[in-house]
Amino acid sequence: MSNSKIWLSPPHMGGTEEMYIHEAFGDNWIAPLGPNVDAFEQGLEKYLGNGVHVAVLSSGTAALHLGLLLLGVGRGDEVLCQSFTFSASANPIVYCGATPVFVDSEPDSWNICPDALEAAIKTCIARGKKPKAIIAVHLYGMPYKHDAIKAVSDKYNIPVIEDAAEALGSSYKGQPCGTLGDISVLSFNGNKIITTSGGGALAVKNAKLKQEAVFLATQARDKAPHYEHSRIGYNYRMSNICAGIGRGQLEVLDKRVSKKREINNFYKELFTAIPGVSVFNEYTANVKSNYWLTTIVLDDSNANVYGLINALAAENIEARPLWKPMHTQPVFKEAAYYGGNVSESLFNRGVCLPSGTAMAADEMYRISATIKRYFKEIA
Ligand SMILES: *Cc1c(COP(=O)(O)O)cnc(C)c1O
Repeated sequence: MSNSKIWLSPPHMGGTEEMYIHEAFGDNWIAPLGPNVDAFEQGLEKYLGNGVHVAVLSSGTAALHLGLLLLGVGRGDEVLCQSFTFSASANPIVYCGATPVFVDSEPDSWNICPDALEAAIKTCIARGKKPKAIIAVHLYGMPYKHDAIKAVSDKYNIPVIEDAAEALGSSYKGQPCGTLGDISVLSFNGNKIITTSGGGALAVKNAKLKQEAVFLATQARDKAPHYEHSRIGYNYRMSNICAGIGRGQLEVLDKRVSKKREINNFYKELFTAIPGVSVFNEYTANVKSNYWLTTIVLDDSNANVYGLINALAAENIEARPLWKPMHTQPVFKEAAYYGGNVSESLFNRGVCLPSGTAMAADEMYRISATIKRYFKEIA
């Protein structure tokens, strides 16, 4: 049997991507605009529905940065952010000169806890400063509790930036992730459920906001025959080449979601026979996860995360710890934090398992044999 590397979530092309790239070369649209950009945006708008307007950008991180700027976040402001996430959710707060205030997760959704969020808001207001925005994340593709978060957002009139970077293809009460926030963010990085090699998108509620996002993303050039600028701009637009990849990928998104869910079922079956391990699962019938990555949590009794990760690595299989909470990161050691130890406890006991949609049967067999052997040896 081959021992080639099994990656966590490698790119998986659908087949038509190269055709769109060839079209771009044929028409010399080798630029951060062109027919693929327009068609990819229209495709995403159709897929997401709910009247959203989409601007495709150079990355999800750029989309978060522009999202904060659209909400007027600036120097000295405070922004609430889910602590249990990838650093790209939080870094753009600092790009704006604002300060992150981190909030713990809840045990069932793994996402921002509405109670801890409200406690954080109350304290910030009591200190004299109402936070400017809430960044909520659908971690590993699992939808956050939209109704509860929206209730807090409405009560205090603080807008939500929905970080759906990991959650394209997921939904909450039938509504697609990427349409739930006041402003929503997608990522097409190489490891995401669909990729443009690198890229991202903003989904907003009206054409005017999209226009403003595109204006900022293309160096904020005012209307004038020469180059006139009355605001600081950015170079954040997606290239027409990358958008060609995106068009092809969007055609297979539904297939990718089905395969991710099949892989999740494969792991659920595998772990029914292994005590002390729980596979992270949809916490209510109201949510659908794209299961971007299947993740497991080990009981305290066998919580040796690196034991498992190293056993898989010895067989050339990639596995990783969960995201390390932002409030425990050296770079954010001064930041305020609200909540308990839910995210830290998950980090200490959790593992992300290979979830690539191109995974072959023999690769699944290698993974399952290695996992079974590991848990037998430590039993
Ligand atoms: C990947 C990711 C991002 C950033 O997206 P990029 O396209 O890599 O810049 C932001 N938030 C989360 C939760 C992510 O997983």
